[in-house]
Amino acid sequence: MSFNLATALRESRNAHPDKPLCHYAETSFSYAQIDEMSGRVASRLLSLGLRRGDKVAVQLPNVPEFLCTYFGILKAGLTMVPLNPLLRAPEIAYHLGDADVKLLVTFESFADEALEGAEQVGGVRTYVVTTLAGRGLPEGTNPYDELCSGEDTGDIAPTDADETAVLLYTSGTTGRPKGAELTHFQLYMNCTVSGELFGFREDDVAVAVLPLFHVFGLSSVLNVSVRSGGTVVLVPRFEAEPLLDAVERHRCTIFSGVPTMYVALLSADTAGRDLTSLRVGVSGGAAIPGEVIRAFEEKFPGVVILEGYGLSETASTATFNISAEERKVLSVGKPVWGVQVRVVDEHDEPLPPGPGHVGEIVIRGHNVMKGYHKRPDATAEALRNGWFHTGDLGYADDDGYLFIVDRTKDLVIRGGYNVYPREVEEVLFTHPAVAEAAVVGRSDPRLGEEVLAYVALKPGASATPEEIRAYCRDRVAAYKYPREVRVVDALPKGPTGKVLKNRLRG
Ligand code: AMP
Repeated sequence: MSFNLATALRESRNAHPDKPLCHYAETSFSYAQIDEMSGRVASRLLSLGLRRGDKVAVQLPNVPEFLCTYFGILKAGLTMVPLNPLLRAPEIAYHLGDADVKLLVTFESFADEALEGAEQVGGVRTYVVTTLAGRGLPEGTNPYDELCSGEDTGDIAPTDADETAVLLYTSGTTGRPKGAELTHFQLYMNCTVSGELFGFREDDVAVAVLPLFHVFGLSSVLNVSVRSGGTVVLVPRFEAEPLLDAVERHRCTIFSGVPTMYVALLSADTAGRDLTSLRVGVSGGAAIPGEVIRAFEEKFPGVVILEGYGLSETASTATFNISAEERKVLSVGKPVWGVQVRVVDEHDEPLPPGPGHVGEIVIRGHNVMKGYHKRPDATAEALRNGWFHTGDLGYADDDGYLFIVDRTKDLVIRGGYNVYPREVEEVLFTHPAVAEAAVVGRSDPRLGEEVLAYVALKPGASATPEEIRAYCRDRVAAYKYPREVRVVDALPKGPTGKVLKNRLRG
């Protein structure tokens, strides 16, 4: 029996071939069209010599080609490595090298950077998706059309349940990004269970503005929609007005977003718009303030916001507030079907319920990753005693609802994008004048968090905050570089010499 995740697409296609799977700008693609185009990609990938388990990186915004490539990779029995299109060449090279990527699909506006990254590792064949206003392909790349030139055989590789479908890069609790190995079974289960919980129906139209390279967009929006036979409206970038245009035009029913998106929509002008089709807002990725839920539901009557919690390592949803009647505002809900969540102390002993018993949240069940790619130590550390250790702190109440109080990891979530301080610190340390560096998040009303860097300079050296800011801006993706740099005499440290980041957070 095959556990290939692409069977979700095939099943929905068989049920209603002509129904639109996605709308994008002025175009629409039916289930049959995406099934056939992904079939052509699959056979071309195999004819290029790629074999079961080989990695293909997809560095695309939310465009229809993402869907064709993703399902093509799955059908061929390969593994997709989604990458953020905004990564800079050295970052792309790191991911391609770490994942042993054989082929990269990128978008024309990011092609130069992607090609430079691919050249740094070598041996990566690069395909570029072009738009109608295309400016031509960089030398050394291939047109995406060529990748779609195979023959659709209708085949779906009979992958096993525990084969890796997606290698999703995340920092985990520490260090440089690591590839979480998400299997076909895990992803299939997650979209099946989440679809039920979100109350997703065949006639639902979901806004896909969360990036598909992130687990929330990929698993909780795209996979859930395809599994339920619904439709997605692809929106490549979050901007309130165009997003509301899309909701109105396509009569969208479900919006999934991070809290900063809900905050931005609160100040959008909705006068004269008919947004009555919207019925559910799924929130996750960070804590959504109760006041935002209240104000949003007042501004968008008929919408209920349901908050969930999950990580890349849990193939998206681990807990969820399933309905308006059963939700608890400020809680991330209860564990989803087939998933267990515990709160444990520093000896991994379960804690009793109650706000006085805050501990680390640990998770086990069908949604937990296989491990981190080529990182046995990090895997053993994260998957201790059969439980995945999230690095998040929280407590459960007497009814089994989970409350997140903080995250132990230092991840900064800026406007929905993860910024891993360690990566930015590595860059800061390469500046000739910098002696010490620490990057933290400070709260920001618009973005949720903003990246703030503290540096102490070497004796006798000089550099202005602006110079250091510009230095980082040239070396990391635009969403990562610190918008504010504070030069201090020394960073605060604990008895072991560790920088006390909690004293720096603003
Ligand atoms: P990622 O692996 O990028 O999905 O990030 C996962 C992290 O996002 C978790 O470890 C949490 O710290 C945070 N997170 C996700 N959902 C929530 C939520 N509903 N409330 C608070 N933090 C959340």
